[in-house]
Amino acid sequence: MYSNYHSHSTFCDGRSVMEDFVKFAMAHGISKYGFSSHAPLPFHTQWTMNEDDYPDYEKEFGRLKRKYDGKIELFLGLEVDFIHECSSVMNDFFKGVKLDYAIGSVHYLDKFPDVEEYWSVDGPLEDFRKGVDFFCGGDIRLAAKRFFEVSAEMIEMGGIDIVGHADKITLHGSKYGDFSVSDAWFYSLMGEYLELIKSKNLILEINTKSLREKGITFPHQCFYPLIKELEIPVQVNSDCHYPTHVTEGFAATYKALYEVGFRTMQQLTPAGWVAVEFDERGLKL
Ligand SMILES: [Zn+2]
Ligand SMILES: [Zn+2]
Repeated sequence: MYSNYHSHSTFCDGRSVMEDFVKFAMAHGISKYGFSSHAPLPFHTQWTMNEDDYPDYEKEFGRLKRKYDGKIELFLGLEVDFIHECSSVMNDFFKGVKLDYAIGSVHYLDKFPDVEEYWSVDGPLEDFRKGVDFFCGGDIRLAAKRFFEVSAEMIEMGGIDIVGHADKITLHGSKYGDFSVSDAWFYSLMGEYLELIKSKNLILEINTKSLREKGITFPHQCFYPLIKELEIPVQVNSDCHYPTHVTEGFAATYKALYEVGFRTMQQLTPAGWVAVEFDERGLKL
């Protein structure tokens, strides 16, 4: 058995309707599945949900929950962007929504002056580079420092359950010659961030979205021993945008975590988040 709490659909930039994801999940051993569309932002983007669509998102979730009752447990969530002085779970929009959980993620760092454009860490490489050049004079170390500053602000603010792709900056950072996840300077930035996450008792996701194509999870595999040592509660999520990616990378990641010594993963139950045992074959649900 597996779970997945990080998933997208046509309500944001996912490529299929919610029900297609549920069908694939049921056929591939998922017993707990959470929807986490990109929450609306205060400005328009191609990849976030429109605020007007939220009632339909909730309605479709309710329909699927009733339809598949007893076959799979479904949860309503959102992936909420933290953008410095712009977007967080504290925005007015969230006062009107009732979620089972919220994932906090950083995709945008700072706003370019005079244009409605943000420095993106998760879009095309050229967009990332543009920000590194403009805000940090091309210095990837300063960019990583800024990424963790903004991320720490999100953690300090609270209101989220799960920390999404905690070291996403490694995706494009690794294209820079003077960057390596195992470099002492980066390891220490990430180490401080992990300690902060632990101090707030948040769940850290192990995000498998880039495992097949790039061979890495977020956080990177090199941080597993440190995450274990700090005893940070974890869960494995696929951040799927296609139904066929719902369980992608799960077998390898469960195995890797088990080998490092992890024995439980956080699961949502009527009593809240609880630690559930797992082994290389999956969750012991
Ligand atoms: Zn994300
Ligand atoms: Zn996502």
